[in-house]
Amino acid sequence: MRNGLKPDLIERVLGAKPKYTLDELEAKYPPRQLQDGAFVTRFAPSPTGYMHLGGLYSALIDYKLAKQSGGLFLLRIEDTDTKREIKEAVDIIINSLAEFGIKNDNDDIYGPYYQSQRKDIYHSVAADLLARGLAYPCFLTQEEMDAIREKQKLNGLATGIYGEYARDRDISEEEIIKHLDNGETPSIRLYSTGNPDVRIFCKDAVRGSISVPENNEDIVLIKSTDRLPTYHFAHLCDDHFMRVTHVVRGEEYFGTVALHIQMFRMMGWTLPSYIHTATLDKIDDETGKQRKLSKRKDPEANVEFFLQEGWPTESVIDYLGNILASGYEDAKMKGQVKSFWDYELRPKKIPMSGSLFDMKKLEWWAKEYIAKLPVDELVGDVVNWAKKYGNDDNRKQVLNVDYLTSVLSIERDNPKRIRKDFITWQQTLQEVSYFWDFLFMPNKEYQYNTDTLREFLNTFDINDDKDTWWNKIVAVATKLGVKNGDVAMNLRVAVTGRTNTPDLYSIMQVMGENRVRMRVEGEIK
Ligand code: GLU
Repeated sequence: MRNGLKPDLIERVLGAKPKYTLDELEAKYPPRQLQDGAFVTRFAPSPTGYMHLGGLYSALIDYKLAKQSGGLFLLRIEDTDTKREIKEAVDIIINSLAEFGIKNDNDDIYGPYYQSQRKDIYHSVAADLLARGLAYPCFLTQEEMDAIREKQKLNGLATGIYGEYARDRDISEEEIIKHLDNGETPSIRLYSTGNPDVRIFCKDAVRGSISVPENNEDIVLIKSTDRLPTYHFAHLCDDHFMRVTHVVRGEEYFGTVALHIQMFRMMGWTLPSYIHTATLDKIDDETGKQRKLSKRKDPEANVEFFLQEGWPTESVIDYLGNILASGYEDAKMKGQVKSFWDYELRPKKIPMSGSLFDMKKLEWWAKEYIAKLPVDELVGDVVNWAKKYGNDDNRKQVLNVDYLTSVLSIERDNPKRIRKDFITWQQTLQEVSYFWDFLFMPNKEYQYNTDTLREFLNTFDINDDKDTWWNKIVAVATKLGVKNGDVAMNLRVAVTGRTNTPDLYSIMQVMGENRVRMRVEGEIK
């Protein structure tokens, strides 16, 4: 500890009088009144205009832990470090979360939830630390810090501002005033008393009890450039005054946990429980090795990709949920739970090391999901997707909802025969595109036996029931001395352009007499 600064000097150092005392902040943001065991979690993205799948994974943990415990899920925008257009970037985050069924519980009392609007809080806490001699103004210039860094590197030492390298640690009031009079703006640094030879213990909800070396770095709390807080200091103030109980964040933050424990202790505040999650990995197509999902290389690293392609968002949640809680798949298949929202997520079971996200596995979840969907919901989802994300053709396909419903109803009446080839809403529309004349592509490769087509048309009646229809095909085959299947195949290709389709009778019923005749005639010429 060093000498604390007097209020008037604190005011000069921070550039303005701090707005609150700590007591006032405690009263303004009192402990939340929630049931015992309720988790208050937060997803705290930086608005970059891009939402990584790992972010969704993290938010899913936050949301699930909050909801299943009767707690709250907060969305905090960490915008102290960004020069980008915030509004649009935040909309991407809010919209993406909403698409996946994740809604935040942000309220007016504990807000604002944008860090850029919480400066008064950070400055008030910094003022308290300055007054208690647990922080100090540092006037090191960038050049001076670079020189320190070089020297440390040369000597094989840890880099950073600590111990003897922390020049201004014990700076006197007179010196501070001299710098200020000189027009310099200081950063505010932590006055660290940690000793890296000593280890401290803490609990990580995933990793159990962990021990880490104490922090001895005088890290920056408030930056000199814009007087906004660093991540570490904002985390301390926000997670305390938002009354967050569980901090779910990437394993890259694991290395700074000692610093965070140190700061919470300095303030005498309750440490939140940490849940450091593993990154989402994939198997690299070229090397066959497991690696992080990369924003640059992998389209599926971007949450937007799943929305654009129309993956059922529920199946993405299902799959991520199963990565988080490996028993979920089994429970769902056995019908014990309907969705991941009904399955208990146990923090201890959350994977600790690189979890694989495999698109093939997601396909399986998506097929299962779509196959079990009642047809009106399937149609609703497809229409919704086409309107929001589809191209002109997709939008035309969904104009006549009755027709689309009939198309997608084929083979849905028999649960044993439900089609399992639909993966995304986009691909569903592609799979049935031949039902629309403007998308139908006659098959030019197929060698038609045009006699079968001609004979079929002679007796074709759209009002025939399935048996009568089939008997007529058998009659054509007998008359021409070919197999029944050959007649059916000629018709299938003529009507759909494809050799592999669902039940042909149903297809013709949905298409109607005129369309069937037109297409079959088109191949007779
Ligand atoms: N803004 C940080 C990030 O996006 C938040 C980390 C945290 O959740 O504490 O990684």
